[in-house]
Amino acid sequence: RTVYVNGQYLPEEEAKVSIFDRGFLFADGVYEVTSVLGGKLVDFAGHARRLERSLTELDMASPVDMDELLEIHRQLVEKNEIDEGLIYLQITRGAAADRDFAFPPEDTPPTIVLFTQSKPGLADSPAARTGIKVISIEDQRWGRRDIKTVQLLYPSMGKMMAKAAGADDAWMVEDGFVTEGTSNNAYIVKNGTIITRHLGNEILHGITRAAVLRFAREAQMTVEERPFTIDEAKDADEAFITSASSFVMPVVDMDGQAIGSGAPGPVSARLREIYLDEMRKAAV
Ligand code: PLP
Repeated sequence: RTVYVNGQYLPEEEAKVSIFDRGFLFADGVYEVTSVLGGKLVDFAGHARRLERSLTELDMASPVDMDELLEIHRQLVEKNEIDEGLIYLQITRGAAADRDFAFPPEDTPPTIVLFTQSKPGLADSPAARTGIKVISIEDQRWGRRDIKTVQLLYPSMGKMMAKAAGADDAWMVEDGFVTEGTSNNAYIVKNGTIITRHLGNEILHGITRAAVLRFAREAQMTVEERPFTIDEAKDADEAFITSASSFVMPVVDMDGQAIGSGAPGPVSARLREIYLDEMRKAAV
C-alpha cells in the first residue's frame, strides 16, 4: 500500500513518524475518515470543512490547503486502486524536541498522514440487511466531542464491552440521554418521526448526519433534533446509526431487547438507499 506522510508518497513500510510526535504522546491530533464509492470521494467538502473546524478549535495549523488535500486523497485512491473503501487522514501538532505538556513552538511542523483501506462491498454490506445489535454504556469521554480528535480509547473500550456482550456497538448515555454511538451518530424512529440528538459539544457533528437529515427533510420526513433516552430507543419503531464508513445502518436490538419488529425498518432502509444514491452521484 502507498501511504502519504509529510509531503511524500511512500510504501507503508517506509513511512515513519517521530516517537516524540504529540499525536503519539498526547493524542494531540485530529482526523477524518472519508469513504470512497466507485473510486470517488463521498462528501469530501464536508470532511474538509469539519477538519478545518477541528484544527481551529485546537489552535493547530494545517500543513496543506484543502485543494492539496483533495489532490492527496485522489492520488492515494489512484495509486492503491481503491474502488470501495476508506481514506484515513490524521494531522497532529507534530514532534516537539522533548515530551512537554505545553504546546511546542509555533513553527513546529504539523505531522500529516493519510492511508487508504480497501473495503470491497462496503456499500452492499450484509449487516445493512440484518441490522446490528447495540448495548448502552455510560458516556465517559471528555467534554469536547464536537472536535474529531484521535483520543479514541473510551470508544475502543466501548466496542470491546459491546463485543463481550455479544453486540456490535455501544450507544453512550449521559445524564439519562443517548449521546451517540462509539463511532457514529444515533437515531430512533417513532410514529414516522426521525429523532436524533441536537448538535452541541456532546457529540461529533457527523458529516453523514448532516446529509441524511437534509435528504430526510427533502423527502418530507419529520425530523426532531433533541435528546432521547434508552427507554425511548427500546420503545421505538426503528433505530439506526450513520457514519462515513457505515452510511445508514439499521439497529435492531438494544441491550438484548428487539427494537420494533427486530428487523431493519422501512425508514432506515429508505434513508440508506437515498443516501447511497445521492452521494454516489455527488462523489468527486
Ligand atoms: N460520532 C462519532 C463519535 C464518530 O467517531 C463518528 C465517525 O467517526 C461519527 C459520529 C460519524 O461522523 P461521520 O458521519 O462524519 O463519519
